[in-house]
Amino acid sequence: MSALQAELAELGSRHLYPNYRQAPIAIVRGEGALLWDAAGNRYLDMLGGIAVSALGHAHPKLVAAIADQAARVIQVSNYYYNEPSVRLAAKLCGLTRLDRAFFCNSGTEAVEASLKLVRRHFHVQGQFERLKVVAFTNSFHGRTLGALAATGQDKYKDGFGPLPGALHVPFGDIEAVRRALGPEVAAVIVEPIQGEGGVLPAPEGFLRALRELTTATGTLLIADEIQTGVGRTGTFLACEREGVLPDVLALAKGLAGGVPIGAMLCTKALEGALPPGSHGSTFGGNALASRAALTVLETLETEGLLARVRELGSLLTRGLTALLARHPQKLETVRGTGLLQAAVLREGIEPRGVLAALQKRGLLVSVAGARALRFSPALVVSPSELDEALGILDATLTELSAP
Ligand code: PLP
Repeated sequence: MSALQAELAELGSRHLYPNYRQAPIAIVRGEGALLWDAAGNRYLDMLGGIAVSALGHAHPKLVAAIADQAARVIQVSNYYYNEPSVRLAAKLCGLTRLDRAFFCNSGTEAVEASLKLVRRHFHVQGQFERLKVVAFTNSFHGRTLGALAATGQDKYKDGFGPLPGALHVPFGDIEAVRRALGPEVAAVIVEPIQGEGGVLPAPEGFLRALRELTTATGTLLIADEIQTGVGRTGTFLACEREGVLPDVLALAKGLAGGVPIGAMLCTKALEGALPPGSHGSTFGGNALASRAALTVLETLETEGLLARVRELGSLLTRGLTALLARHPQKLETVRGTGLLQAAVLREGIEPRGVLAALQKRGLLVSVAGARALRFSPALVVSPSELDEALGILDATLTELSAP
């Protein structure tokens, strides 16, 4: 370990709030899907800042756009227009076929805005009892109190209750949703693939069935595409695969390639729900993050990244499936789409130990759910980098004793 790395680990362990469990390495630099720590060790970054690093680290276009915008203006407040945020709103509305965009700074804020929007929409319609959301077991929507209430995993909620009303039903069970819908329900919130829950895709046809059911009952549909959006699954939105247009959409993570941003988009029918003064954000829509996001969206197009994600996704599926066949005692299944996939460890294998072993060999991934080793690399990752990562996983699983 280098002196700098040791110093940072020691200082961090004393002064950072201890709500994370950092590995004792300090990352100092990145390029594409590669990272280097303060001791000069190279890592294949298959974590991508937790599905954030859309263009990879230090993408020249993103670096130049951020530097250029910083030299012009970073933040002006929402008392005025700024060019990047207006153009970003227009671009996102075009890409998603929605009509209005509200900007904030994180995923949980985008969910929070979505929940406030649907509540207030029914309030202004005089339907005061429509206060609840239907959400799914094993879901993750964020850490603020509203988003936490919608989250369907107790481990995130422990000690924070009571939380505002959400009804949780099994993910993928359309009949359970039908039974839960009633006059007190404003919206259904769904992740097309439950990311933090362990990279669990919704069953085929489920999103379409949800759309039909919510439309028929006058309930709103919120798609939380914070992890699945912005090209991660090979289409701009994962919902597109089933031709589903939600009423409300939450985006964040990859949208500005690592610069903090969140976005809530909605249909025209909802534009009256949050009038001036009813909701806002000091930093939301700042020129710097908006310019970064515009650059990400432009680069997705100019570099043909959606098609690339589909190709790389097939390669990753083939590679993980081959590992499943080679290590049936260590792996239970593989799942996911595009560049959001996971190899699920068998019960009895301690995922943290596997993470540490992978890290030692120069591979960074994360554990989602109880035992899913999640791959969510930059959308610009190369086939040879994916191969190298699969090779490291193979070697690590070979060394691992069966449970
Ligand atoms: N919703 C989903 C589907 C997520 O995956 C996440 C983060 O992992 C969030 C919401 C919360 O986003 P943030 O951590 O930016 O608040």
